[in-house]
Amino acid sequence: FLTQEIIRKKRDGGALSAEEIQFFVRGITDGSVSEGQIAALAMAVFFNDMNMDERVAFTLAMRDSGEVLEWRSLNLPGPVLDKHSTGGVGDVVSLLLGPMIAACGGYVPMISGRGLGHTGGTLDKFDAIPGYCTVPDNARFRQVVREVGVAIIGQTSSLAPSDKRFYSIRDVTATVESVAMITGSILSKKLSAGLDALVMDVKVGSGAFMPTYEKSLELAQSIVAVGNGAGMRTSAILTDMNESLAPYAGNALEVRGAMDYLTGRSRPARLHEVTMALCAEMLVLGGLAADETAARAKLQAALDSGEAASRFARMVVALGGPADLLENPDRHLERAPIVVPVPAPKAGYAVSTDCRGIGLAVVSLGGGRRRPSDGIDFAVGLTELAGLGERIEAGQPLALVHARTEAAAQQAVREIQAAYHIADAAPAANPVIYRAIR
Ligand code: URA
Repeated sequence: FLTQEIIRKKRDGGALSAEEIQFFVRGITDGSVSEGQIAALAMAVFFNDMNMDERVAFTLAMRDSGEVLEWRSLNLPGPVLDKHSTGGVGDVVSLLLGPMIAACGGYVPMISGRGLGHTGGTLDKFDAIPGYCTVPDNARFRQVVREVGVAIIGQTSSLAPSDKRFYSIRDVTATVESVAMITGSILSKKLSAGLDALVMDVKVGSGAFMPTYEKSLELAQSIVAVGNGAGMRTSAILTDMNESLAPYAGNALEVRGAMDYLTGRSRPARLHEVTMALCAEMLVLGGLAADETAARAKLQAALDSGEAASRFARMVVALGGPADLLENPDRHLERAPIVVPVPAPKAGYAVSTDCRGIGLAVVSLGGGRRRPSDGIDFAVGLTELAGLGERIEAGQPLALVHARTEAAAQQAVREIQAAYHIADAAPAANPVIYRAIR
C-alpha cells in the first residue's frame, strides 16, 4: 500500500479495506506514517466518516498496536467486566461500581484516565489517597484483580500506543469530534484490557463531552455496534450530565463521598440511580444476574452487607494505601484550609446549571489541569451543590467552596453563581437515565 493512496481514497469518500486500515495504523505506531499524513487522514475521516466495518477494523488495529491483556490463564471464577464513561463532573461511579461488581462475583481490571478539560478523572481521585499506587507492575495488577476482584489503576503506555499518537494529533487538528474516531479511540483501549463485557456510560447535557442528545445517542450506538462487532459484549446507557452527578466535586472530596456511599453514611439519589443502573446492566451482561431485578437485589445486598465497602478497603490496602481509610478519612485525606459558602444572588428555583462551568470552577481552584504538565491540588473542590429543581432563598448557599486561598475562593464563588440559572417557576424534573442501548 501507499500511504497517500489510502488518504486519497478516504478523501474521495471511499471505504477502506481492513488491510489498508491495518497498514495505516501500523504506520502510526512505528512512525513510518508522518504526522502530516495522520492529520490528513483524520480530517478525511472527519468529513467522510467510516462505515461499521471500517470502524471495527480500525478499532481492532489500534487494539493490536500494543499489548493485549489476557485473563484466561488465571482461571477466574467470574467474568472480566468494566465500565467507561465519556466524562463528567462529580462522577464517582467508578469508585463505587468496581467494588460493587467485585462483591457480586465479577472481576474488574479498571484502567482509568486523568481529568480532561472540565471533567474529573478517576486516576486523579486515587492519586489523592496517600500511598495508593496507580502504576503497579503487571504482576501486582493481576494479583489484586484475582484476590480482591477489582483494581483501579492508571493508563500504561503499553496498551493501544497508536491511539496515544493519533489522539495527540487529532487534539491539535480539530478532528477529535468524530463519532467514528472517538469510538475507535475508546474501544481500542478497553479491548486491550481483555474484557468479556463493557458497559458504556454516555453522558447527555451541559456537562457532557458530546454537544447534543442526538450526538450522544449516535456515539452510544456506534460504541455498542463496534464493541460487539469486535467480540466484546457491549451495551451503553445514556445518563444525565446537566448537573454534577454527586452534590460534590473535587478529588479528595469525591473519595470521601464514595466512601460515605459505600458505607451507607450518605447515598445521594442521582448518584445512586446512575450507579445502580450501570452496575445492574453489567451484572446482566456478564451473566452474573438473570435480569435487572435480580441484579439490583444482588447489588443492594452487597451494599447492605458491607461487602462492597470491604472490597474498596481491600483494594486500597493491596495497592499500598492506608488500612484505616474508611474509618479515618481525616487522618489521610487532605482538607482545604478555606471553606466558604456561595450565596444565591436571588430567590427562586435552580432551573439549570452550566455543568461545564461548574467543572471548570474546580479546575480554577486547582483541582484539575489547564495543561497536561500541571499538578493537582487534591483538597479543593465543591460540596453541598444545590440540585436542579431546588427552591433557594436569596443569600442561601448554592454550594460550599473548598479553596487553598481566599482569592481562589472568591473567584470560584463568582463562577458558581454564574453557572446557576435561578428562575421564579420550578422546572420540569430532568430524567437521570435516558435510555439503554443494547
Ligand atoms: N476520549 C478518548 O479516549 N478518545 C477520544 O477520541 C475522545 C475522548
